[in-house]
Amino acid sequence: MKQLLEIANLSVEFTSHSGVLKAIEDVSLTIGQGETVCLVGESGSGKSVTSKSVMRLIDYENGKISEGQIWLDGDELTRLPQKELRALRGKKMAMVFQEPMAAFDPVFTIGSQIIEVIIQHKQGNRHQAWERAVHLLQRVGIPEPEIRMKQYPGEMSGGMLQRAMIAMALACGPQLLIADEPTTALDVTIQAQILHLLQELKAEFNMSILLITHDMGIAAEMADRIIVMYAGQIVEQATVQQLFTTPHHPYTRGLLRSITTIDSDRSSRLFSIEGTIPPLSELPSGCRFHPRCPYASDHCRQESPPLRQVNDRLTACWHAEEFVRLEEWQADRKV
Ligand code: SF4
Ligand code: MG
Repeated sequence: MKQLLEIANLSVEFTSHSGVLKAIEDVSLTIGQGETVCLVGESGSGKSVTSKSVMRLIDYENGKISEGQIWLDGDELTRLPQKELRALRGKKMAMVFQEPMAAFDPVFTIGSQIIEVIIQHKQGNRHQAWERAVHLLQRVGIPEPEIRMKQYPGEMSGGMLQRAMIAMALACGPQLLIADEPTTALDVTIQAQILHLLQELKAEFNMSILLITHDMGIAAEMADRIIVMYAGQIVEQATVQQLFTTPHHPYTRGLLRSITTIDSDRSSRLFSIEGTIPPLSELPSGCRFHPRCPYASDHCRQESPPLRQVNDRLTACWHAEEFVRLEEWQADRKV
């Protein structure tokens, strides 16, 4: 598989009143042509920072790439000036968010905003852009697209606006679509429709997708590979099959358990793991997961485990080999 995106040893810092905080550290990952990779983890794990770094949107939020490189189809993104990045955004990579109002300007019609993107990237004249925008709205399942073109973002429902945002993201045929919790704000039926739509469009446009989600169920459905993040670092990386059948990291295991234990109120209690993710200003010594890990040893508390090859995947846990042999560990998978 041809690699489309390659992130190598990426670290990102934010400057706040309490000093410089490292939001992600030494993150490396690749996404192949046509592949869907899911970044999973609780909020505060660094998923969004990683994806926004690819778009170089952290530059607008006091953030800075302090180390590492990002290659997208031959371009090294960390070195490009914003002017050149603007040309790539939309055309080679595009992003959809949880909150579609963030993507649209409330004072312009949906149609004019999609047309603007097409014209900015020199993908046609005004008339062609209009036709393409109508076609895209139709393709993402918006009825009466000509009428919708003339509406303002505030006149659309959440689900419709989400579709319109996807249409805008696809306007210039990007190779990489980054979707950050694209369905979290939507009800379950619409969520399923949007996910299905993304899968269809991926095949149709031959795109790669970087999907950010805290929902392991969504990751299972959508991903080819899953990358689990915790407190700014990657802790496990595997195919869906590998991850779900033999999770190697205690945090991954906790995430998987949360799927089976939570069915009623998904939004209020997403994780069954005791405790919370540490703030960036108070990262624990050694393994960052150790205060929440039932298996933490002295070694764990003192020394940070590197991300390394264990069996068929990458994981960052000192005791991974022992766990996969544990009976209790095995039993958990049958839940
Ligand atoms: Fe738990 Fe230790 Fe593994 Fe960290 S390294 S996840 S503390 S067992
Ligand atoms: Mg986020």
